[in-house]
Amino acid sequence: YESASVGELANKLGREPSEIIKKLFLLGVMATINQELDKDAIELICAEYDVEVEEEIRIDVTDLEIYFEDPDTDDEAVESNTEAIERPPVVTIMGHVDHGKTTLLDSIRDTKVTQGEAGGITQHIGAYQINSNGKKITFLDTPGHAAFTTMRARGAKVTDLTILVVAADDGVMPQTVEAINHAKAAEVPIIVAVNKMDKPSANPDRVMQELTEHGLVSEAWGGDTIFVEISALKGEGIDQLIEMILLVAEVAELKADPSVRAKGTVIEAQLDRGRGAVASLLVQDGTLRVGDPVVVGNTFGRVRAMINDVGRRVKEAGPSAPVEITGLSNVPQAGDRFVVFKDEKTARQIGESRAGEAIQEQRTEKTRVTLDNLFDQM
Ligand code: GDP
Ligand code: MG
Repeated sequence: YESASVGELANKLGREPSEIIKKLFLLGVMATINQELDKDAIELICAEYDVEVEEEIRIDVTDLEIYFEDPDTDDEAVESNTEAIERPPVVTIMGHVDHGKTTLLDSIRDTKVTQGEAGGITQHIGAYQINSNGKKITFLDTPGHAAFTTMRARGAKVTDLTILVVAADDGVMPQTVEAINHAKAAEVPIIVAVNKMDKPSANPDRVMQELTEHGLVSEAWGGDTIFVEISALKGEGIDQLIEMILLVAEVAELKADPSVRAKGTVIEAQLDRGRGAVASLLVQDGTLRVGDPVVVGNTFGRVRAMINDVGRRVKEAGPSAPVEITGLSNVPQAGDRFVVFKDEKTARQIGESRAGEAIQEQRTEKTRVTLDNLFDQM
């Protein structure tokens, strides 16, 4: 501590203020309870009680969101000449069950992911990146709804664009509508992929008609929603879909600054028997590097190892890149934010204080639940 009053110090040491005043008196310092003590006096007293004075970094704010919004919060000197540059779009695929989400994800991956990554073995880290003529696109492959819902509930916006898959032989179904509502609430643009066009019973006009009722009017009909007819199974229309994604991304002018400390969102996480806590992260700004001290949700650590979506060990990951990391002290949750800090001490301090707060919240929650149960029984 740089300074503290006699009362505060007594409190910290778990002693009576009168005892501290007496000690000070014996050391030749006359003091009252409200008297501010300087660093030297504090150290003297602490030495009397065999307590080491820890230099405390004052961090009142344990809300990661604040660090997330303002990159300068933790920077005493922000690197000069930093500039936001174009970043790849992050895309989610949503739609009714069995309309072809998984097939489409696989199809896109099969056609594009191996370019320049020969020999890489597909890793399921909750997202993958493709490279289409030098332009990258990140696809979240966690089950669309779950990821979208939990992340949005936590206020984490991760998606730039939604592909709404609608089977041409089945049309708009309850989860189609749900997906539209999610995307609209999150203000994420929608591209409609009319799937299963290879089926004889495919009726794309009906899909267009039904979607009109939900505010998605095709460009062909004078609206502003892009519709692409595809067959995920046969790999038809995929190139055109990718082209449209890049077009929408370009209009959106998605930017990030690779020169700042990384921050982003947890896509998924689990405990691995051999590797400990494993988390798939989506870097949303900055560059994440091996060795970085990081706070992830209510846990923290130092990035020990990183692998990308084709299982390669990487040393760094830039904006919109998905990576799987190890080195965290605990398993975070999908939708948690992560922020890299300048040193491990700060990361530890914020991580521990957030963990403490989380435990406290849990306790309050438990008490409340117990009380509710009690009232229910009455
Ligand atoms: P999800 O529940 O949305 O992930 O749907 P799936 O990708 O699991 O697909 C459900 C079923 O539809 C599977 O049997 C797929 O093989 C089939 N399917 C997906 N896309 C197409 C397509 O373009 N054409 C045809 N004929 N079948 C498809
Ligand atoms: Mg599926």
